[in-house]
Amino acid sequence: MFSYAPTPLKVLVRGEGARVWDADGVEYLDFLAGIAVNALGHAHPVFVDAVSRQAATLAHISNYFASEPQLELAERLKRLTGGDRVFFCNSGTEAMEAAVKVARRTGRPRILALEKSFHGRTTGALAITGKPTLREPFEPLMPGPEFLPTTIEALEGAIGPDVAALVLEPIKGEAGVLDLPEGYLVRARELTTEHGVLLIIDEIQTGAGRTGEWFAFQAEGITPDIVALAKGIGGGFPIGALVAFGAAGDLLKPGDHGTTFGGNPLATATANAVLGEIERADLVGNARAMGERIRAGLAALTHPSITDVSGRGLLVGIGLAGPWANAVATRALELGLIVNAAADDRIRLAPPLTIDADDVDRFLDLFSKALAATEGHSS
Ligand code: PLP
Repeated sequence: MFSYAPTPLKVLVRGEGARVWDADGVEYLDFLAGIAVNALGHAHPVFVDAVSRQAATLAHISNYFASEPQLELAERLKRLTGGDRVFFCNSGTEAMEAAVKVARRTGRPRILALEKSFHGRTTGALAITGKPTLREPFEPLMPGPEFLPTTIEALEGAIGPDVAALVLEPIKGEAGVLDLPEGYLVRARELTTEHGVLLIIDEIQTGAGRTGEWFAFQAEGITPDIVALAKGIGGGFPIGALVAFGAAGDLLKPGDHGTTFGGNPLATATANAVLGEIERADLVGNARAMGERIRAGLAALTHPSITDVSGRGLLVGIGLAGPWANAVATRALELGLIVNAAADDRIRLAPPLTIDADDVDRFLDLFSKALAATEGHSS
């Protein structure tokens, strides 16, 4: 179907670490990693081994049974997040569907979400996505969501005892890596607690070490009620999860929600291996260190097109002085570098968490050349 716009990308046939190759044998440095998915890079031996072993042992059972990898992953996610209960699914949008159903179970009608947010493409997740152009062709969608400007004042004005949940991303990845204002998350936690509102944090893009913390909310010293996960936790194997803290974990009742594939042994064994390797190799620390190297390198470029650098760790947004992000990303691709135009004027980077200093230096070299494509516009 025509749901994806034609792309200049060739057919990719192979990957290794932060490199991929197309069908003509051309090599690319992958600074997008399947949009924040390939946490260990491509064809990492730990990933390959986990998939192979589990496929040869027990790939899928129904949710009438439990499996050892599933129980292990639930315990691991509880330990890493500090949460109490876990629901497994297969993607980010499904995690947000589950979050919406948890919110509905409070019996309260309103859901607060943020302008420019992105939570997924299925109709429940879409209904809480703050991009009118994505929502409007499919309306009427689920009633209840309201979209707020991302200011503490707007939140203070809107929240009340009839609100079921406040849903937000700690960094708006799809909008071009937009940071929340200073103090927003802490104030959001205070206000939601005061009014008995669920604080639902979408860490689908920011989670699993990408921001230089296991989860971005941890940098703020707060505890949410619900965290949604996907993308990086499977390192390329499709999996999503919802982690609930405290009483929020009791809202869904038996029979309220389910999925055939969610939490199957193949997906959960792979996620265990990926998260285990992130822990073993301290890739969270590496995300922080390499993120700093990227930021220092970008600052040293002093290119007139760069207006700002946003995000944390290895989720990086680069603001441009005009709507040239597509031109820069296209030129970068021609030079052998994969980056993403997340908005007309913003480039997004989300490389594997395994990248090293050489990868960063190569990126900086290629990116500065790609930026030259904007020189005519910026002078
Ligand atoms: N939420 C956020 C913050 C995302 O970045 C995405 C995907 O980009 C989603 C939800 C939807 O995830 P999926 O594409 O796995 O359905």
